[in-house]
Amino acid sequence: MDLNDTPEQAQYREQVRAWLEEHKAEAPVLRGEGALKDEDEIVAARREWQRKLAEAGLAGVTWPKEFGGQGLGPIEQVIVNQEISKAGVPGILDVIGVGMLGPTIIAHGTDEQKGRYLGPMLHGDEVWCQMFSEPAAGSDLAGIQTRARQNDDGSWVLNGQKVWTTNAQFASYGLLLARTDPDQPKHKGLTMFVVPMDAEGVTIRGLRQISGEAEFNEVFFDDVRLDEDAVCGPVNGGWGTALTTLMYERVTIGLGSEGMGYNASRYAEAIGADEVARADSEVRQRLAEIAIDLLSVRFTGYRTLTALSKGQIPGPESGLAKVTLVNAAIRAGELLADVIGPEALSEDSEWAYMISFLPGLKSAGGTEEILRNTIGERVLGLPPEPRLDKGIPFSELKAKEREAVSA
Ligand SMILES: Cc1cc2nc3c(=O)[nH]c(=O)nc-3n(C[C@H](O)[C@H](O)[C@H](O)COP(=O)(O)OP(=O)(O)OC[C@H]3O[C@@H](n4cnc5c(N)ncnc54)[C@H](O)[C@@H]3O)c2cc1C
Repeated sequence: MDLNDTPEQAQYREQVRAWLEEHKAEAPVLRGEGALKDEDEIVAARREWQRKLAEAGLAGVTWPKEFGGQGLGPIEQVIVNQEISKAGVPGILDVIGVGMLGPTIIAHGTDEQKGRYLGPMLHGDEVWCQMFSEPAAGSDLAGIQTRARQNDDGSWVLNGQKVWTTNAQFASYGLLLARTDPDQPKHKGLTMFVVPMDAEGVTIRGLRQISGEAEFNEVFFDDVRLDEDAVCGPVNGGWGTALTTLMYERVTIGLGSEGMGYNASRYAEAIGADEVARADSEVRQRLAEIAIDLLSVRFTGYRTLTALSKGQIPGPESGLAKVTLVNAAIRAGELLADVIGPEALSEDSEWAYMISFLPGLKSAGGTEEILRNTIGERVLGLPPEPRLDKGIPFSELKAKEREAVSA
């Protein structure tokens, strides 16, 4: 009863727990002993598990009922995340789709888009990817160069490249931010599109990571034709649409942390199993510091939950939770590796993936430096970073930047 559940929430938690208890044997095993190895088999098993979770009402908890969700609040979503974590089963496969892109379509899409895409997304029949970052536009997302030009018949032609695209290798659709008017300042003249990943002219190339998995991709677009109704949100108003996705990204990473297993008691259990480590004062001190940070993240998360349940949008301070969470979990990985030794990185270790994946999470969803800048400027009121691009048409920016460098 972490959250001091109300009687209704306690009853909901009980209901979620009972379903998971009854069905957890059907969940795919992803880590440790008996884990699935083949990437296609893993994806198929996780899709099937997502379908079961969706049918049981444990996916899209906060989505409105008319789109197949439960119409419940963020607190119920966290209850589901916590119970999934406690049951030791994986969550849904398409966290990006259901957590971030679906809510963006609900907020900005047309009725046709909502009717066509949301149901298959929720049930894992069609996985989605987020195509925002480019080789020269990550932190500075509004600097994207992928271009979409409109034809006389209203259709669009897309050219450019995205990178870091998680799940593109098996996604059916992607939500893509493109530049549609380079003569406007860089945050304007952007538009969001729904792109079928099997469209002619789309090339997907996997990027293998240190964890051994290839979750990311480069995606290239060569004269990809999109119908007029592929636009999601206003033409040239794509920055507002993207901000909705980014807000949900922050909330998904922050509130989903317990579902991802970043949990001090789990670390304590593994470390406590080693008798020498259990008695070592330095190990105990390091573990206590990690637990304190994770506890503070949990309470910051509850503040976010309170804001969300009152219909407010979480402010820039929630970036602090992401920075604290990721750094605490990285330190936990280091401590586990120190205690367990090289075994911690063996193929069957339940920690190998966490240890090798976490440094990447420092960049995903906003890098540490960018989040610290935002906290400095918008929470602490420090002077803003100098900006050369304000009000200048995107097409003239390169020349202005060159002038500034040579001045
Ligand atoms: C695990 C993972 C999954 C991802 N999945 C997706 C996805 O599905 N779709 C997608 O579109 N993108 C995805 N990304 C990309 C992610 O959004 C970018 O990595 C992130 O925005 C940073 O951009 P960048 O990698 O281009 O780094 P850059 O922006 O080039 O930054 C490089 C370094 O410079 C620092 N820096 C940059 N600007 C400043 C500044 N003004 N002040 C101080 N320091 C600065 C950064 O903090 C960083 O350390 C993913 C990334 C990771 C790691």
